[in-house]
Amino acid sequence: MIIKNLIQVGNPLLKQKSKIVKNINSKETQKIIKNLIDSLNYHELVGLASSQIGEKSRIFVTKIDKTPNRNPDEIDKLRIYINPKIIWSSKKEIIIYEGCGSVAYAKFFAPVKRPEKIIIEATDEKGDKFNLKVEGLLSRVIQHEYDHLEGIEFTEKITDMKKIMSSGEYRKMIFAKS
Ligand SMILES: [Zn+2]
Repeated sequence: MIIKNLIQVGNPLLKQKSKIVKNINSKETQKIIKNLIDSLNYHELVGLASSQIGEKSRIFVTKIDKTPNRNPDEIDKLRIYINPKIIWSSKKEIIIYEGCGSVAYAKFFAPVKRPEKIIIEATDEKGDKFNLKVEGLLSRVIQHEYDHLEGIEFTEKITDMKKIMSSGEYRKMIFAKS
């Protein structure tokens, strides 16, 4: 198992656009996928993109595990997205707090506005194409990770700087609401 330190905001690597994956079955691609999964699990994140571990391939992973504060409907299995495309976004946008493993190792949360629902098309680790229509937390995570492939950090999209919170205070707020 190889755990990668996560590249942190301010590093120019996070501003670079990732490149199309040409050979999904190559050892190199499969190694990136494995490193992404191991690092996602180790850092207890809901999503991780290749640029965050110093790679430049259009690949990200998502996995929404059960936590005491999380709505059980939002739990989702591990998914691997290679060369993803967001092919539709709802007109309706909503504000949700986001954090990021590349921003103070997810110890910092802030409100970001994005479309509520999307349809994403991608290829999985076996080379099979799939598409998903998603809303809720998974929609949010996918859009955040997709932005990483475009070289965009969520800190560029914060809607209100006055509402920034530490992860500890953010969790207290969520817990009080549930
Ligand atoms: Zn991120």
